[in-house]
Amino acid sequence: MNNFEFKNPTKIIFGKDTIEKLENEIPKDAKVLLLYGGGSIKKNGIYDQVKKALAKVEVVEFGGIPANPEYAVLMQALKVIKDKNITYLLAVGGGSVIDGTKFLSAAALYEGDTPWDILTKNIRTEKGMPFGTVLTLPATGSEMNSGAVITRAETKEKLAMGGPGLFPVFSILDPQVITSIPKRQLANGLTDAFTHVLEQYMTFPSGALLQDRFAEGILQTLVEIAPTVIKDPSDYNAASNFMWSCTMALNGLIQKGVPTDWAVHAMGHELTALFGIDHARTLAVIAPSHYKFNFEAKKEKLAQYGERVWNLNEGSIDDKAHAAIEKTEAFFHQLGIDTKLSDYTKDYEGTAEKIAKRFTERGWMGLGEHQSLSPDKVEKIVKMAY
Ligand code: NAP
Ligand code: FE
Repeated sequence: MNNFEFKNPTKIIFGKDTIEKLENEIPKDAKVLLLYGGGSIKKNGIYDQVKKALAKVEVVEFGGIPANPEYAVLMQALKVIKDKNITYLLAVGGGSVIDGTKFLSAAALYEGDTPWDILTKNIRTEKGMPFGTVLTLPATGSEMNSGAVITRAETKEKLAMGGPGLFPVFSILDPQVITSIPKRQLANGLTDAFTHVLEQYMTFPSGALLQDRFAEGILQTLVEIAPTVIKDPSDYNAASNFMWSCTMALNGLIQKGVPTDWAVHAMGHELTALFGIDHARTLAVIAPSHYKFNFEAKKEKLAQYGERVWNLNEGSIDDKAHAAIEKTEAFFHQLGIDTKLSDYTKDYEGTAEKIAKRFTERGWMGLGEHQSLSPDKVEKIVKMAY
């Protein structure tokens, strides 16, 4: 196991009817900017619950943060923060609203020329404006981590940022919010969380036995609850296990002491930036090709995953590893998620070269847990995913 430090300061308030507890979490003298997305919270009653719980504090609102939070929209929100002397941010939404809020938390206290530099120059945020979240969509784990991904439509870029100052102070997780989520987003959430675990687990060597078991436990739980969540999102037991699995998939715990990959996300982000494909779906497109391309380096872990998560006990290491990739792809298909780029766009020719060129320009010469995926290999993986 590798050396590590672990600190996750986010307070989680989990369970039925917990949105009302917001009242106790936000300082009474705070001037709050309530941030939300395209308006789903106004239809499903979450907005009303939040407003009721915030009755005693001063609140300004900013709605309209789109899926794949857009820089230009966030810059409008930054203006509101400055003009109204906001001191506290509250994200009510899924990963997009939470990530957008993290960008604002960083940008509000940033003293450089343009906040876009935070993304392009890899500036880590040590201290941001404090913020809390009310999670409405289990998927990203953003409610309990310090990372964010921001999109800029103008340049077709989607870049990551983070830093120890960007953990939410608290996050409220009421699994009842899942009832109103459309099937497409439920499937996305399951796929995104599943892939988060794979990115931290499907590496070799790790020697981290407990982290492996944690990771396998999350994968097994997602596989177990997925059919119920899709069929009946109002099933509270399935919903609560779904929500907690997504948080646990990316709150830092399973990545400690192990090498992590994240190449699937790096390639996936480009597909969202270029074609607007939902984040989770880009992962389902890239992951199978990635594991096939890196088969030799990852086959022992793939076989372990096959045995422990998919009960594949027949055949050699190679047989189990191949079957594990097939099972993974079948799981995505079972959720209604297509796994080829050509399923999403007819305009895919040239994509692999474009992505490899972008990675070269950014100096991303070696992705993956061994920094061995050079842009020419990235090009091959993306081509395999056509
Ligand atoms: P999302 O983009 O936040 O939301 C997707 C859609 O679901 C939106 O249209 C939203 O509507 C709707 N929605 C959310 N909650 C709902 C509810 N309770 N009922 C009905 N509709 C609801 O989806 P996401 O998958 O959570 O976030 C994706 C983003 O997170 C991507 O940009 C991805 O790159 C990023 N990401 C971040 C991390 C991280 O660690 N920070 C990790 C992985 C991915 P409204 O707009 O109306 O709310
Ligand atoms: Fe993700």
